[in-house]
Amino acid sequence: MNKYIIIFIIILLLIFIFNIDIHENMNSTNIISLSVPDSDWSQYWSKLDYAARENASCIPIAKDYTRLGTMDTWILTMPKSCENGMPHTRAADIIAIPEGFPKDYLPKTLEHEKIHLNQRVDLDLWKKFYKKYWNYEIFSSPPQNFPPNLITMIRANPDTCSVPYSCWNNIWWSVPVYKSVTNLNFRSCPVLWWNQLDNKIYNNPPDEWVNFFGDHVSQSEHPHEISAVYIADWIYNKNKNSKGIQILMKFWDLNKEKLIL
Ligand SMILES: [Zn+2]
Repeated sequence: MNKYIIIFIIILLLIFIFNIDIHENMNSTNIISLSVPDSDWSQYWSKLDYAARENASCIPIAKDYTRLGTMDTWILTMPKSCENGMPHTRAADIIAIPEGFPKDYLPKTLEHEKIHLNQRVDLDLWKKFYKKYWNYEIFSSPPQNFPPNLITMIRANPDTCSVPYSCWNNIWWSVPVYKSVTNLNFRSCPVLWWNQLDNKIYNNPPDEWVNFFGDHVSQSEHPHEISAVYIADWIYNKNKNSKGIQILMKFWDLNKEKLIL
């Protein structure tokens, strides 16, 4: 047989074997050959964050390595105590879903978490969008005159942990805070708004913010959350009733390919 034909057949065989291997890795659960990458994010925790997680376990009950859009992603089933039973991302390719999470809510929740994965992968693109179109800037640390009591009380969020401080219109800083040092439940954390011009702390966003983003944004604490809420809501409910979401969806359409989702 012609040696070129033999080489060609060998190459075909190698491609076939390699594909099977990849395919098996992508779709099976409890894979032995792939270990979950490090998802420890405790370097971002304050004293209260440590205390809030004192009796929590984030050791996965089940692991699934799967493809979401074009992203290869770990979906970890977590004990209910992990992050107070809230779905979240733990790294650029890890989504954590609490045990017993309602199946009906899962598709929309995964869309939301996919946006957070993307924000981790392509942070600069999101930062540019926030600054140019939403007048938001995000920071890893607070400005010098930021109220110390807010820094003490801020609740770490795994989906915003590397850039937890956000400022809107160069005036308003929004922060999720623990209700008190004795109530560290994540679900009852209010979002407070510090106005850096009058140096006062407000319980609600300013009217200009509401006019732009709408009055039904379920997670107003950070543009990462606002965009994830908006996009998942748009995909499922076609809700496009604020200026903020209209601009975001234009950006989304333009960058869909780049955003690899
Ligand atoms: Zn989120």
